[in-house]
Amino acid sequence: MTSGRLLLDRGKLMLLKSIMEEIPAELELSNIEFEGPLIVIYVRNRKALVKYPMLAQTIAKKVRKRIVIRVSPDARLSKEEAKKIIIEYSPKEAGIDPNGMYFDEASGEVLVKAEKPGYIIGKGNVFRNMLLAETGWRVVPLRTTPFETKTLKEITNYLIKQSEYRLEFLRTLGERVHRDVIYKNNYVRITGLGGFREVGRSAILVETRESRILLDFGINVGAFSDPFKAYPIIDILRIDELDGVIVTHAHLDHAGLVPLLYKYGYRGPVYTTKPTRELMAIMLKDLLEVSKKSGRYIPYGEKDLLTALTHTITVDYDEVTDVAPDIKLTMYNAGHLLGSGIVHLHIGMGLYNIVYTGDFKYADSRLLSRAHTEFPRVEALIMESTYGASLQEPRAQAEARLIEIVKRTAERNGITLIPVFAAGRGQEILLVLNNAIKEKQIPPINIYVEGLVNEVTAVHLQYPEYLSKKVREDIYNGENPFITDNVKILEGPVARPDIVEDRPSVIIATNGMLNGGPAVEYFKLLAEDPRNSIVFVGYQAEGTLGRMVKDGMKEVSIIVENKVEAIKVNLEVESIDGFSGHSDQRELLAYARDINPKPKTIILNHGEPNAIDALASLLKKSKEIRTYAQKILTPSNLDSIHLTAQ
Ligand SMILES: [Zn+2]
Ligand SMILES: [Zn+2]
Repeated sequence: MTSGRLLLDRGKLMLLKSIMEEIPAELELSNIEFEGPLIVIYVRNRKALVKYPMLAQTIAKKVRKRIVIRVSPDARLSKEEAKKIIIEYSPKEAGIDPNGMYFDEASGEVLVKAEKPGYIIGKGNVFRNMLLAETGWRVVPLRTTPFETKTLKEITNYLIKQSEYRLEFLRTLGERVHRDVIYKNNYVRITGLGGFREVGRSAILVETRESRILLDFGINVGAFSDPFKAYPIIDILRIDELDGVIVTHAHLDHAGLVPLLYKYGYRGPVYTTKPTRELMAIMLKDLLEVSKKSGRYIPYGEKDLLTALTHTITVDYDEVTDVAPDIKLTMYNAGHLLGSGIVHLHIGMGLYNIVYTGDFKYADSRLLSRAHTEFPRVEALIMESTYGASLQEPRAQAEARLIEIVKRTAERNGITLIPVFAAGRGQEILLVLNNAIKEKQIPPINIYVEGLVNEVTAVHLQYPEYLSKKVREDIYNGENPFITDNVKILEGPVARPDIVEDRPSVIIATNGMLNGGPAVEYFKLLAEDPRNSIVFVGYQAEGTLGRMVKDGMKEVSIIVENKVEAIKVNLEVESIDGFSGHSDQRELLAYARDINPKPKTIILNHGEPNAIDALASLLKKSKEIRTYAQKILTPSNLDSIHLTAQ
């Protein structure tokens, strides 16, 4: 069937046998391949496929693996013929872009840009299956967005070019992931490589006797100058033995150093959601560009980033994926950022289950719904604790305060600058301000948006299924809740001097901690005029300009192209933590209480020592939590925890 190597593997052989039993003879089975976590069934008689619309699901249920059915290359129509049929057969409402079709010969998939992708899938995949039977190509719809995202276009083209290599990579990986389990007695050990008793450079190594998985691999943006503080502790990592890297979300402190692994020769997979892959591409590319300009050293280049993206395998929420012979991964909504995931690892046929929250928000926002709490099993919970020592103001109050600041700044003819991270807060703030203008709580002033936040907004529009119900429905109805008439998208720095003359107005710009991006440029232009305001809506890491301004420094120096500029800070400085994508102390406690089933061990990470210790002591004081959590641990980097020890 597939390669001869399989004959050595009893378990795999049994698996193939039970798959083959389900495939009707008339489909003319040609091959079964393990492609990464997927099992791909290739058939020749594409026309007969319409008779078996549920075949993939039926087999997936039986063998508990991800199954895809494809048509053998020799039974597919040519690209031109396929393109004609896809356009001709698809309903007009789908709004297919004839110039937005990307054929991937290696996988037999065709990316199709459409305004309403639902129409080219159809209920229960009916329409997609019909197109597969007619053309032999498997349609993967891509939602059209109102403006072009340059980075994403480049990356899609790059990945298509790499598709031969990628197929080979997936097949080699598939053999590895589905190899038989060797050891009967297994153990689970985790080691903090970064982000324990600190925030930044998150990295956790999960080891069993069979396999090694890395959870996140971030960089500490507040400590760029010192690799001993900025990078996870790499020395003890044997990169050639890694089975996979799982990235919870695209923030730099979780994803920022992933390309470094590839620079050092790692050629295994990165698992994450689709939106996270795209946000990672945008944000890491930006990190490289901004760093180059400011003379900051990043230990990898664009080539390594592209290599990382080539090796990325996307997973959907709630979808079980084999990442090693003894480890199954499922990601769930974390409510923190578009595509952010809580990681559930099922290890060793029921031996042990870990839930790693990554960054998470246990409350609904306008943009996202709250973090997931229900899991099949949980023995250990690894929970972020950024706000373990503090309470945030309720969301409604935070919104009211933001609106009030914008209003009073407008009344004194000033400009409100809101520095944001590219992803998350920027989109949330747009939703809040657009709504406030609609409700006439603030006058209809211009809202300028500059920087990465624009590309990121396009990614949000591409994946409405990852957003809150309200925003999702707006997008399905053809609305754009982010970019209304008052919102002006800016490209490049040319207009900046004019924009700071448009009074009153609001400027939303990246980056959120004022350590790079257009936000710093606007800050320089606005800081000395007391009519203006700056509003921080996110976490300000120690050592960043944002932290200094937030803490009330009246004069700050900014390094621009190796020259130091002194800036007087006269504008109104405000900080609203109620927009945070992190859970506050109350929400963290509630999560530890609500998670189901209940963990025996709770491990706190991703917090400054005072936050970690405050949260740990609260958890220990809770009678309810003590009834199930026998251990509440607050390890440091380099501490290992043997989770399966009795
Ligand atoms: Zn984050
Ligand atoms: Zn984080």
